[in-house]
Amino acid sequence: MQFDIPDGYKAGYVAVVGRPNVGKSTLINAILRQNIAAVSEKPQTTRSNQLGIWTQDMAQIIFVDTPGIHDPVNTLGQAMNAEARDALDDADMILWLLDASVPPQAQDRNIARILKGRAHLVQALNKIDLLQDVELLEKTRARYQKLAPGAQQIIISALQGAGFPALKEAIISHLPEGLPFYPRDQVTDIYERHIAADLIRAAALEFLQDEVPHAIAVRIDEYKERDDIGARISATLFVERESQKGIVVGKGGSMIKHIGTRARKAIEAMSARSVYLDLRVKVKKNWRSDPVFLQQMGYNTGKK
Ligand code: GDP
Ligand code: MG
Repeated sequence: MQFDIPDGYKAGYVAVVGRPNVGKSTLINAILRQNIAAVSEKPQTTRSNQLGIWTQDMAQIIFVDTPGIHDPVNTLGQAMNAEARDALDDADMILWLLDASVPPQAQDRNIARILKGRAHLVQALNKIDLLQDVELLEKTRARYQKLAPGAQQIIISALQGAGFPALKEAIISHLPEGLPFYPRDQVTDIYERHIAADLIRAAALEFLQDEVPHAIAVRIDEYKERDDIGARISATLFVERESQKGIVVGKGGSMIKHIGTRARKAIEAMSARSVYLDLRVKVKKNWRSDPVFLQQMGYNTGKK
């Protein structure tokens, strides 16, 4: 490794779980101070496990950003669950993110069932910035505690960066002693093209309403480095129906242009170089229930 490892060094994997929209991606990005995980106001931006690596002098924490655990509604839903469970089994500890600004939801109770009996579990109550009332906070805290009796609770705001020192300390206390897994300056192990696909999806989610976004899959067709112009990226956005294609393309191509500009800026910010981005839209009928397509796209459908 590239740096001196003191005695008692700790290193391990943290599975970040929580229903969609509780702030998992926001938290990981904030801790790493980089946009690794796509953040969106609409749930399910994160579709596959991603690593974020946070290294300091005494510890290395490797975050696995799991897709939201929820009731499978189609094959894609099942794929998400398979990945989430794999992440739980492989992790040294589980960080369960909850939204402290609202009471426990049905999806939280589902997750409680999945996590029942698991050791090394810490609850992080997020979005504390939205809660001014101390009594209400205590009530909510107690209600979340019932979902995991005995689990340590830490109060945070991923958005404002509040509560991070206590959170990191709690996480590190659950990690085993051992050598770091990654060099000090490495913050992720996902390929850049994978991040680019996620950022393109996030851009589409930002501009499109309701039904359409979740019917979009992004495939990177070309990812070439060019010294003169930076990177050249071509990608295809797959939708499930002809009508959705019309919406994504927009009048005279205006919508796909918006999406492309937003995505290009995000990829440029991530990679610190200029990017030429070319997007196209194709219909792949009912792809979310098509196991072959899902596997081609890299989703874990539970069949290896
Ligand atoms: P994920 O689905 O769990 O990965 O959630 P995201 O990280 O994508 O966040 C979902 C939404 O919640 C986004 O609009 C975030 O800006 C917002 N959010 C995340 N953390 C906080 C927080 O601490 N406070 C507030 N007010 N909003 C937050
Ligand atoms: Mg996310």
